[in-house]
Parts: sequence; structure tokens; C-alpha cells
Amino acid sequence: GAAIGILGGGQLGRMLSVAAARLGFTAHIFEPGANPPAGQVAARTTTASWDDAAALAAFAESVDVITYEFENIPTATLDMLQQHRPIRPGREALRVSQDRLVEKDFLRDLGLETAPYADITTLASLEEALSRIGTPAILKTRRFGYDGKGQMRIGKPEEAADALALLAGAPAVLEGFVPFECEVSVIAARGLDGAVTCFDPGENEHRDGILRRTTVPSRLSIARRSDAVLLAGKILNALDYVGVLGVELFVTESGLLVNEIAPRVHNSGHWTQNGCAVDQFEQHIRAIAGWPLGDGQRHADVVMENLIGDDMDQLPALAGEPGVALHLYGKAEVRAGRKMGHVNRIRSRAER
Ligand code: ATP
Ligand code: MG
Ligand code: MG
Repeated sequence: GAAIGILGGGQLGRMLSVAAARLGFTAHIFEPGANPPAGQVAARTTTASWDDAAALAAFAESVDVITYEFENIPTATLDMLQQHRPIRPGREALRVSQDRLVEKDFLRDLGLETAPYADITTLASLEEALSRIGTPAILKTRRFGYDGKGQMRIGKPEEAADALALLAGAPAVLEGFVPFECEVSVIAARGLDGAVTCFDPGENEHRDGILRRTTVPSRLSIARRSDAVLLAGKILNALDYVGVLGVELFVTESGLLVNEIAPRVHNSGHWTQNGCAVDQFEQHIRAIAGWPLGDGQRHADVVMENLIGDDMDQLPALAGEPGVALHLYGKAEVRAGRKMGHVNRIRSRAER
């Protein structure tokens, strides 16, 4: 049978591997770290560094198509891999989403709204940007940020120098703080044939920069719901995208602003595992394998809650609750801020 290569062995790689296996594919993980969560469920795992040319070549030759669970794969790694097998989603999606400045320019050029932003290189450029954008504002590293890491909130202009110093010279962008009504995300998919589909947008709540909860249905109006789906489709088409894409949105009085995009399955799409016939992981595997996209209609109301660090203490009680589906990642070591698993609380249509 066909084999799917997955770069990265975290929980997203794990759940992609399960979906691949369910469709009869063999999942092959490439991951530099020891004992990755995905290694427990994938058919094969290669443990090697991102610059190991021989290991990358052997990995690529062993699969039919290569995908990834995170967007920060080094460019040189991608260059080596693509000599052997197609990488889906493609390079353009990675180029755009690896850098917040490139990403914001891309979104703006597509005619989509974002928070006001500026390229920050020096204290002078930060002070200039603050005078234009105002406070509060958020200074973010252009690259490698996740779960709110690499971000400094600037409450007043006098805090500029300290905030910049904390980023230790990393290239950055300044974003105006968006007074949003709520946050939502669209998990969208595009097939090899260009077909596009979206899951119902979910409403997201964060704590300390980390996603805590996603609720479907969201409180979005019908009009905003179609805005969200249409803008996701616009992004997919502009990138000639193949696979699942996460689009994080701020909902404001005047409309939707794009926060960021993730060229992969997304934490805020985990509810689809228990709310849809075909979830985001299967949809991604279908897309990159050139299959028709599946039926992602929502058939239940779902609240997804992440189990982060000590939240794992709630497990025995959670396990016995009606309507609760557990999804645990098999991480041996519990650490503060570490995503250990999630639960989907399900209420079927019949119960409403
Ligand atoms: P992820 O894990 O989603 O990749 P990240 O580190 O890339 O996170 P962001 O998505 O940029 O971080 O920000 C995390 C959260 O912080 C957002 O979901 C939002 O709640 C808040 N936030 C970020 N930027 C802004 C902004 N400009 N205005 C208001 N809130 C913001
Ligand atoms: Mg991000
Ligand atoms: Mg985010």
C-alpha cells in the first residue's frame, strides 16, 4: 500500500498517523527527538536531525508523499526532500506562514483585514510604529513563535525598549491590540483537484497564550460565518494549497480580521474527531493522497478542552463523564504548559 511521510512526531503527527492507518496507508514519521508521541502509533519512525541528508533521502524514498505537522521545517530540509517526493501542502504555504511579516503582507495583498502591523528592526522603528499604531500593542518575533511564546505586550510607549530587549535581537513585528468580541477559526481543506471545503467555524478561548477551549457552534452570525468560509477559500486558492489549513480570526464589530494561518491540522479543529463523519486528520490525509475530500458536516455540538500540564489530574473523573471522548497523546512526562491530551464533550443533535 501507499505510504505517507510525516515531518514531526508530536500529537498532530500522531493523530495524522492514526487517520492514515484507518485509510489503509502506512505512516512514516521523521522526527529528531527521541520517543515522539507519533512513534507509538506510526508504522515507522526515523530518528535523525533535519540536516541528515542520507536519512532524509531514505525517508523520502520510502514514502509516496510528504506532509508535516508543524511549519518551522528548515528550508534546506525541504530542498532535500522535494528532490524525491512531493511535499503537500507546498512550499509557498510554508514560506508564507513561517514568517509573521511575510504572512501579514500576503494577507493584506489578498485584500484581507489584519491587525495594524509594522516591521520592527530597531528601537527607532519600534517607537515610530508605536506612535502610528498606538498602545496597547503586541511585539512578536517574526519566526518560531507558538502558544504565545516570543510575544511581548506593550502597554505604554515607555515600555518599548524593555520589550525589544526581551526579544534579544530577533526580527519582529508590532501588532496593534485588537479589541475582539471573540476569536474563531476556520479549518479548511483543499484537494489536489482544487475542491474546497470548510468545517464549521469554532469559537476559541485562550489562556496565557495557549488554546484552552473550542466550542461549536460558535456565536458567529450567519453572515460572518460565510465571510469566514469565503476568506479561508481565498487563502487556499491563492496558495494553490493541498491539505488542511487553520485560519485564526478575530471577530470585531466591523468584521473579521485574520490573526494567523497554520498550514496544517490545527488544535482548534480537534472537535471534528467527534463532531463529523470525516475529521480534520482524515481530510488532510485524503487531500494529500489525491483522494476526494470527505463529508465534514457537523452532526453534533462539541466543546473541545485541552488537557494542559496538571489538567491530567482530572482524568479519572473525566473518563466516567457521559458524552466525553478522551484523546491522550501518550507523553510520558507532564510539564506545565505542555499539551497532554484533549477531551471532546459531545451533545448529539438528537439531545438538543
Ligand atoms: P499559536 O499556538 O496559535 O500558533 P502564537 O504563538 O502564534 O500561537 P498568536 O496566535 O499570535 O500566537 O497569539 C496567541 C493569542 O494571543 C491569540 O489567539 C489572541 O488571543 C492573542 N493575541 C495575539 N495577537 C493579538 C492582537 N494583535 N490583538 C489581540 N489579541 C492578540
Ligand atoms: Mg501561531
Ligand atoms: Mg495563534
